[in-house]
Amino acid sequence: MKITDHIKNANGKTLFSFEIIPPKKGNNIQDLYNNIDPLMEFKPPFIDVTTSREEYVYIDKGNGLLDRKITRMRPGTVGICAAIKHKYDVDTVPHVLCGGFTKEETEYVLVDCHYLGIDNVMALRGDAMSHQKYFIPNEGGNHYATDLVKQIQDLNCGKYLHDVIESTNKADFCIGVAGYPEKHLEAPSLQTDLKRLKEKVDAGADYVVTQMFFDNNKYFAFVDAAKKAGINVPIIPGIKPIAVKRHLQLLPQVFRIDLPETLISEVEKCKTNKEVRQVGIEFAIQQSKELLAAGVPVLHYYSMGKSDNIQAIASELF
Ligand code: FAD
Repeated sequence: MKITDHIKNANGKTLFSFEIIPPKKGNNIQDLYNNIDPLMEFKPPFIDVTTSREEYVYIDKGNGLLDRKITRMRPGTVGICAAIKHKYDVDTVPHVLCGGFTKEETEYVLVDCHYLGIDNVMALRGDAMSHQKYFIPNEGGNHYATDLVKQIQDLNCGKYLHDVIESTNKADFCIGVAGYPEKHLEAPSLQTDLKRLKEKVDAGADYVVTQMFFDNNKYFAFVDAAKKAGINVPIIPGIKPIAVKRHLQLLPQVFRIDLPETLISEVEKCKTNKEVRQVGIEFAIQQSKELLAAGVPVLHYYSMGKSDNIQAIASELF
């Protein structure tokens, strides 16, 4: 079922969902199941599965030279989506990226999703590779998420790449896109970034999931500004519980988001990672309670593969 239908059918009740990352290449899917199992009692209507783009690795050839190879550390997004969908009878949302894929490769991923009965996809640009300063699209790939949304919409209309005749076998994907309450790090202003978000919605995006944020006022202001900009699709808040002390530096550095002073000082007082994890849980519970009271459509949690903290949060709320 489409995410937008899940939201409609909930009749104003806030839903619980979460995002997982595929295991590292060579690991077992059972580890993933072990982390999903405890969250199923909260009846998530959908689970997102991220996609990681390819990276360069340098292999020592033993003669003083390095060999540059390309690798994908966490492949298998669509396979994992299919496995989870059929094991738990839950909708899954594969993340589809512009970066690292040609349009043809993207089309094959989408065709696979269609065959597997996956009704929702999250359309994202992806980031630059670690050695790059800026995002560079693949030759023959999509540049911005808007272009990817357009490609998915083409499939929804039966228009496949290079096909002379339109197919009668149309896809019917519900499309999610990313939104940034504190603006995307490359955007020159929040207003410009909102204009870009509007372009994604005008191209066919059905809902938005936000980047993590720790100050609900930023989310509320973002939703208001989005409405004023003519964006009328559901905007789902993304919530990340702080789990290790290093997040105090890492999250602002990677995602250009601010952390509230109260949270910083509570985390700084912690002596162990277990204490930090507990502070993260308690903060996320308070944050979620306020969002719940405001009637957000879904509370969407970034689990990063470990679910004990998400379970602790959900058990207070759902
Ligand atoms: P876009 O919407 O294309 O925007 C990227 C930047 O370009 C923005 O600054 C925007 O303002 C600007 N822009 C857009 N259109 C134009 C235009 N026409 N001209 C000029 N500028 C323009 N990354 C992964 O690698 N894998 C994942 O699974 C993943 N999942 C995510 C899930 C969520 C909910 C979120 C919020 C992010 C996720 N990301 C993921 C990270 C995401 O790929 C990065 O934030 C990326 O840098 C931007 O992606 P986007 O889809 O928002 O890009």
